[in-house]
Amino acid sequence: RELKSQLPSYKGLENFKITEKMGDGAFSNVYAATDLTTNKKVAVKVVRKYELNSSQRANILKEVQIMRGTNHPSVVKLVSFSESDEHYFLVLELMEGGELFHQIVKLTYFSENLSRHVILQVAHGIRYLHEERGVVHRDIKPENLLFQRIPIIPSKVPVRRPYDEEKEDEGEFVPGVGGGGIGRVKIADFGLSKVVWNEETMTPCGTVGYTAPEIVKDERYSKSVDMWALGCVLYTLLCGFPPFYDESINVLTEKVARGYYTFLSPWWDDISPSAKDLITHLLCVDPAQRYTIDEFLAHPWCNAAPAPPPPPT
Ligand code: ADP
Ligand code: MG
Repeated sequence: RELKSQLPSYKGLENFKITEKMGDGAFSNVYAATDLTTNKKVAVKVVRKYELNSSQRANILKEVQIMRGTNHPSVVKLVSFSESDEHYFLVLELMEGGELFHQIVKLTYFSENLSRHVILQVAHGIRYLHEERGVVHRDIKPENLLFQRIPIIPSKVPVRRPYDEEKEDEGEFVPGVGGGGIGRVKIADFGLSKVVWNEETMTPCGTVGYTAPEIVKDERYSKSVDMWALGCVLYTLLCGFPPFYDESINVLTEKVARGYYTFLSPWWDDISPSAKDLITHLLCVDPAQRYTIDEFLAHPWCNAAPAPPPPPT
């Protein structure tokens, strides 16, 4: 965390007081800030305009446009947007808890109940984007999934049971999901997202009658990229490492292309067959066979009641 004296100020952002650095992107810095006109805490994504070419600038405006149309508890809200000669400023709902990525690193991995609590929130956000907004996110990953508040984490993390289930009732509770102590998780970063369906007609974008079959087919399957990513996130939550990994980018690309992954022993030995079955239906190379968001949400693992906490020892 940067010292206050090192925090920058920006021309065009005089109504905000930057208080803390939250994260970085390729062309952006994200800060926690106070909106001096309302005294509310927000996040500001400051994008360096001068480093962008015209198509990248157009993409920022598309990101803003997509976020403007969204309103769901599992999707980070855009409060306002402005620009100066040098920067774009995306004022966002502040997610004080930071990235899911950092929590996985801290906890090693999540229990099944806690993983369900997290992934169901993400999945409801994806269902909203896919089915109500016709938006494909295209960059679902633990760095882009943010906690609203700093989660309650036990100070000592035992090796096989990293999360204290007895503490799950503390903090914000999401009914029927379990794992309340960890609070709300939301989808951020619409920088790669794309509208694939016309909202009014629920037809592919472009003039339907004249659209080539490969485009229609592509758009039908475009949502499935988020489902693959959801499977990767769920796998990573449950064991603490991603399903596809290799030091060599070429080998990694080949593994992904073939859908070559395993439930590696001993890490996966105690994880339920139901969780593995669900992952198998997401990490499925053929997009036509891959689960849709509705199939995901209907799977027994997603609808299992969280196990009661173990008896005190
Ligand atoms: P990029 O498109 O460059 O990846 P992101 O929108 O993902 O930019 O933001 C980069 C990082 O900044 C995120 O991974 C996260 O750590 C942090 N961040 C982004 N939005 C917020 C927010 N609303 N609240 C808190 N931190 C955020
Ligand atoms: Mg990002």
